[in-house]
Amino acid sequence: MITILKADATKQQRDNLIQWFESQGLKVHISKGEFQTVLGLVGDTSRVDESLVEALEIVERVTRVTESYKAANRKFHPEDTVVEVGDVKIGGGGFAMIAGPCSVESEAQILEIARSVKASGASLLRGGAFKPRTSPYDFQGMRAEGLELLLEAKEATGMPIVTEIMNADHLPLFENVDVIQIGARNMQNFELLKAVGRTNKAILLKRGLANTLKELLMSAEYIMSEGNENVILCERGIRTFETYTRNTLDLSAIPALREKTHLPIVIDPSHATGRASLVEPMALAAAAAGADGIMIEVHNNPEQALCDGAQSLTPAQFDRLAKRVLKVREAIL
Ligand code: PEP
Ligand code: MN
Repeated sequence: MITILKADATKQQRDNLIQWFESQGLKVHISKGEFQTVLGLVGDTSRVDESLVEALEIVERVTRVTESYKAANRKFHPEDTVVEVGDVKIGGGGFAMIAGPCSVESEAQILEIARSVKASGASLLRGGAFKPRTSPYDFQGMRAEGLELLLEAKEATGMPIVTEIMNADHLPLFENVDVIQIGARNMQNFELLKAVGRTNKAILLKRGLANTLKELLMSAEYIMSEGNENVILCERGIRTFETYTRNTLDLSAIPALREKTHLPIVIDPSHATGRASLVEPMALAAAAAGADGIMIEVHNNPEQALCDGAQSLTPAQFDRLAKRVLKVREAIL
């Protein structure tokens, strides 16, 4: 249920109403916009008499929220959420260019890639340290050592870093990580979602291989219900019958999620297509469809990459992509 307050409601009146809702055992989520304040109520609202609340002098309107996601719901928070990572703003007009290798492989590799993607305009550096691989015999990432190297690259370039967590026990290692990624395979690892929800880090939540948008929003809700509202959604392609591409990029997720949620939406065309030649066109399409950011895999030597070489761009290819994406953004403003 949401209660929209009149523009002239005083702080005292608002606090009294909030206190009253809380005394009914409800959690109150406050969203103060430029023109209106929305009180989102979470809990058993069935006993709240809508007409009674609506009759209050300071109340403009009361609406029941039928969707099961509340904090992530645009009705709870009509304005776009802007997630701030250092100086980078993601959402509400702020666009994030996230780039870097699938996996951190060595000090020289991550430093070289970090410097080149930064020079091309990337605002955040990605790199996997703990890798979710289909085969246990494939490279599993450099793990804690990989995180150290990422932090070194952050120090050297000033770029905030994005990296995936697979186990809540590893959280202490992520202390200086700026954005924690929850990968597609862990989108419904609810204990992990709750654990990152208890941190104040920005969380990049990737859509599962076979999950609906509603399920993605419910997973965001798990994080937010623990108190962390810094959630960025990421569409990275879903499983369909098509095998030419690694996955099928669901670009309609951008406008669809935009309607349903206030959270920022980032597109990952690398994992979506699995082919370097398809990454730039899909990144341009994502920007044209209104994405709040893109995440691109870049490797200084894609042929020798220990993971996802086929979908990795060279620094020169990324440079071209970054320039063209900015042009698309200017064109649609
Ligand atoms: C990744 O970003 O490197 C990754 C493993 O992505 P996903 O979880 O989308 O497969
Ligand atoms: Mn990858």
